[in-house]
Amino acid sequence: MSAVAETGVGELGRVVIVGGGAAGGRFADALRLGGYDGPVTLLGDELHPPYHRPLLSKEVLSSVREIDDILLNSEEDLAAREIVFRAGLRATGIDRPRQVVRTSSGVQVPYDTLVIATGVRPRVLGSAPLGARVHTLHTSVECLDLREALDGARSLTVIGSGFIGSEIAASARELGRDVELISSTRFALQNAMGPWAGARISRLHEERGVRVRPLSRVVDLEADDEGVRVELADGQVIASDLAVIGVGSNPTTGWLEDSGLEIIDGVIVDAHGRTADSRIWAIGDVARRREADGSTHRVEHWTSATEQADGLARHLLGKRPSPIPRVDYLWTDLYGTKIQMLGHLRPGATEHVLLDEKSRFIVAYTVDDRVVGVVAQGIAGRFMRFRVPVASGSRIADLRELAA
Ligand SMILES: Cc1cc2nc3c(=O)[nH]c(=O)nc-3n(C[C@H](O)[C@H](O)[C@H](O)COP(=O)(O)OP(=O)(O)OC[C@H]3O[C@@H](n4cnc5c(N)ncnc54)[C@H](O)[C@@H]3O)c2cc1C
Repeated sequence: MSAVAETGVGELGRVVIVGGGAAGGRFADALRLGGYDGPVTLLGDELHPPYHRPLLSKEVLSSVREIDDILLNSEEDLAAREIVFRAGLRATGIDRPRQVVRTSSGVQVPYDTLVIATGVRPRVLGSAPLGARVHTLHTSVECLDLREALDGARSLTVIGSGFIGSEIAASARELGRDVELISSTRFALQNAMGPWAGARISRLHEERGVRVRPLSRVVDLEADDEGVRVELADGQVIASDLAVIGVGSNPTTGWLEDSGLEIIDGVIVDAHGRTADSRIWAIGDVARRREADGSTHRVEHWTSATEQADGLARHLLGKRPSPIPRVDYLWTDLYGTKIQMLGHLRPGATEHVLLDEKSRFIVAYTVDDRVVGVVAQGIAGRFMRFRVPVASGSRIADLRELAA
């Protein structure tokens, strides 16, 4: 094979991937596994090679695993595959006419094919005093900082009851800390999983001793040597040793501001991941895909990121797309139980409870009598039987049979 793959989209030449996370790392691997033997450079601002980020808020925070245990590729693996890995190097811009990526060190990295995979960064609350007592959690470094801080703490306030907030609350509670979980919605994880599943998750937290504060809004957050004070809109003040902010994320697109690429809460791409510049692609959490009906969709989940990486590699190498139907999938692990979701909630969706047991449930969501999402707890491997029905928008009666 020639060093430069000839594909349906032209020659790939020098492939540069910015972002050494799930999507970037997987894409580099998938190119090599797909037979591409041209130059591939993976450029990441973290110090570690790609790792299993979802485990940060679960087993790494709980000290069950260390960062070295969750690497997806070691530096040796990358070198053996002739993937040039540039760790600790931040891309600061793209010079499109010259086809180079500018970096924080001043080095310019030339490309023929550029893949943007810079993920997201946690949102912070206004002027929140991030530091020893107030944390966010997205990277290995942030996880180890929080873990160390938790070691010397008795109490933690978690602001935000989405995935990351819920997981941190559960991990800290399992470590024996007093935990307050501040939720802007009535129930934890309600925005992602709907009110019925959310109520079950709030109950799970409460049964384990987490104090959930529903429908609460933080108006002030202060920290000093003594601890943290979180003031809520209703005037209540929560004092604790530490706080974690888990109120969602923003796509990491600041470095692309003067690139001329279309950026609207993510890098706008087509169904394959291509931007308006035929040499530049975007995958993973940072990518906002334009659907056939003109709407756009961006997801922040592991499986989507890796599937987009695989899909793009296949496309660039001129291979057939995967026959597996594309549907959003996500999971979370709380107190040793797995909660999974396929599809996504749409406004006005109707809930249908298909299984309701103490530590297991299945709830489906329909719009116009067509299934758009399923959430379940405690059924693990059996869950994937719902993939095709969700992807094809089956009727609820078909799902009832599958759930039985
Ligand atoms: C604590 C935590 C727990 C999670 N748990 C789950 C879960 O249970 N289930 C689930 O489905 N998903 C989970 N996720 C989400 C999942 O990890 C992401 O969807 C996935 O990592 C997205 O992959 P990505 O490659 O798009 O982005 P990332 O994995 O975030 O990788 C992006 C990389 O790009 C780097 N980068 C950013 N800007 C630059 C730049 N300018 N130059 C160079 N490098 C840059 C970043 O530092 C990062 O290393 C979790 C996320 C977190 C943070």
